[in-house]
Amino acid sequence: MPVLSDMKFPKEINTFCPHCKKHTLHTVSIYKKGRERASSWGARRQAGRKRGYGGQKYPELIRTAKTTKKATLRLKCKECNKEIMREGLRLRKAEIVE
Ligand SMILES: [Zn+2]
Repeated sequence: MPVLSDMKFPKEINTFCPHCKKHTLHTVSIYKKGRERASSWGARRQAGRKRGYGGQKYPELIRTAKTTKKATLRLKCKECNKEIMREGLRLRKAEIVE
């Protein structure tokens, strides 16, 4: 997987759509993680682990070794309006340009 510093992406690209089975114009946006549910099973389990004496069960991450984050592109087909995701690239900064 390539490690690059900054990368600019065009607003629209012509690429293969697996639903239309041909190359179509796609609008490009960068994937962002949604808000986590407060009472999901993982959150409830973690809350149970943290209860009582000796709460935190594993060390909290203070300094991360990584200096980049994976930027996943969301491509929306202009013909069928379905979205596909591109495999994440490690980038310091991902931008959408004109
Ligand atoms: Zn399509």
